[in-house]
Amino acid sequence: ATLVIAVDGTSGSGKSSTCRGVADRLGLAYLDTGAQFRAVTWWMLRAGVDVHDADAVAARAHEPRLVSGTDPLAPTIVVDGEDVSGPIRTDEVNAAVSPVAVVPAVRTRLLELQRSIIAGVLAEGRGIVVEGRDIGSVVWPDAPVKVYLTADPAARAARRSAEEGGSDVAATEQSLLARDAIDSGRTTAPLVRADGAVEIDTTPYTLEQVVSQVAALAAG
Ligand code: C5P
Repeated sequence: ATLVIAVDGTSGSGKSSTCRGVADRLGLAYLDTGAQFRAVTWWMLRAGVDVHDADAVAARAHEPRLVSGTDPLAPTIVVDGEDVSGPIRTDEVNAAVSPVAVVPAVRTRLLELQRSIIAGVLAEGRGIVVEGRDIGSVVWPDAPVKVYLTADPAARAARRSAEEGGSDVAATEQSLLARDAIDSGRTTAPLVRADGAVEIDTTPYTLEQVVSQVAALAAG
């Protein structure tokens, strides 16, 4: 099936685990666009670019070369030949990624990359689950299945903190909410529920239950 499942939502709503579970269950490829924004951010920080200076970020937005792995069981993100799957999950990147993702030159660059990856998978006759903030609204508005995931901030922070091996829950919640505020408030491709997206509040559900709900949408 040449299916695109577009999954957007707030930070820590369970997008990654859900998307990987759905892709694995349905035999689809998986693309984590957040990892791409994180990888560009990691590169900017390492290059010494002031991530709060949009002109400085824009001037170098075309330099990092990104390769995204699309295996849901082993997602990878490589920048200039270096696997940064671990380093993109630090507090430093968490704090810098939303300011970088506001910069139009960064978004344009990644939009082209995202569309070419999706088109490449479809050209092979396969389907793909794509997660981000603007997939159903901007990247692939024709996706036949669109999902918008949310969850209570406290639940999101508790899950993320557990994933991170027990980081401070209150600080994690502040970090998630700060990113949500920037992601929802920006003028280019803000986080919104796309037209036609089914909203799922994951707070009361287990991961398996959410995976089943999304897989059921894909089954029609
Ligand atoms: O999904 P994740 O939390 O890894 O995304 C990190 C950040 O990347 C988001 O907070 C957002 O600023 C940015 N992002 C975006 N558009 C996407 C995916 C992520 O702006 N499609």
